[in-house]
Amino acid sequence: MKRLGLVYHPDYLLHVPPFEHPESPERLTAIMECLESTGLLAKTKQITPEFADEGDVFAVHDRKYLDQLEKACRRGDMTLDAGDTYLCRHSYNIALLSAGGAVAGVKAVSEGTVDRAFCAVRPPGHHAGRDTGMGFCLMNNVAVAAKYLQARFDVGKVLIIDWDVHHGNGTQSVFLEDPSVFFFSIHEHPTFIYPGTGRRWEIGKGKGEGTTLNAPMAPGVGDEEYRLVFEQTLLPAAERFRPEFILVSAGFDAHADDPLADIRLSGEGYRFMTRFVIRMAERFCGGRLVSVLEGGYETSSLTSSIEIHVRELLEE
Ligand SMILES: [Zn+2]
Repeated sequence: MKRLGLVYHPDYLLHVPPFEHPESPERLTAIMECLESTGLLAKTKQITPEFADEGDVFAVHDRKYLDQLEKACRRGDMTLDAGDTYLCRHSYNIALLSAGGAVAGVKAVSEGTVDRAFCAVRPPGHHAGRDTGMGFCLMNNVAVAAKYLQARFDVGKVLIIDWDVHHGNGTQSVFLEDPSVFFFSIHEHPTFIYPGTGRRWEIGKGKGEGTTLNAPMAPGVGDEEYRLVFEQTLLPAAERFRPEFILVSAGFDAHADDPLADIRLSGEGYRFMTRFVIRMAERFCGGRLVSVLEGGYETSSLTSSIEIHVRELLEE
């Protein structure tokens, strides 16, 4: 069995919507109850994260945006300008703790105290760009973790695999011109699905041209179509890029039962993708792999998919 780090903090429950909202603390409560009742939690090494260092967050986000975010929370604003992203008084700090969760995961793997890590964090991060929070995201957790790896652990090339059903537009924008971070996103498109970006021709810019790869998937597709993209598109790209560390933006809202989208993955689809990224990490980067929670809004499919995900991450 592998040593799997499980990053979680009870204060993640303090980011509370002021109105009915799918991104709720109950998501994490259900995940932790599931991992406990199945005996999986006991098999992990539990990691308690700290607030991300603001210097590490500034590597991704503009100071002005973070100042505005902090002030908005202190004032008691209920949403960001984008409207779909709620705030409460704790949200700024808990977003720092969420980014700190991804940082704690990559730190533990880099220092060798665990082999892999799953970060059960919220708020999610992959829609947050340099100067904007949106789509339930305030700070970009995987982006902060990738920059942290490069700054603190001398990691050169990072591969981010985003399988949340929504396009990871924030992460893409942060690394659009950066050839050292390869961003792959598989997501539903085209429909009126949020956020509307992530087309095939979005491939990066300038020096970063060729290190952004989007796989838009039609509504209604499922495990088999995803498998083909992983084998025929992602794997050859990773072979060319040769990552030194793999991060997963692990959303579970591509499950057939999730209400926010129309991709039809089953639990077996998540098992396949998890095994696939593990094999890629073993082959390219000494097994170094950290998975960071993004979306997933239907309790039963969220918990059952994460149970499979964690079970596979524990396997040799
Ligand atoms: Zn999503």
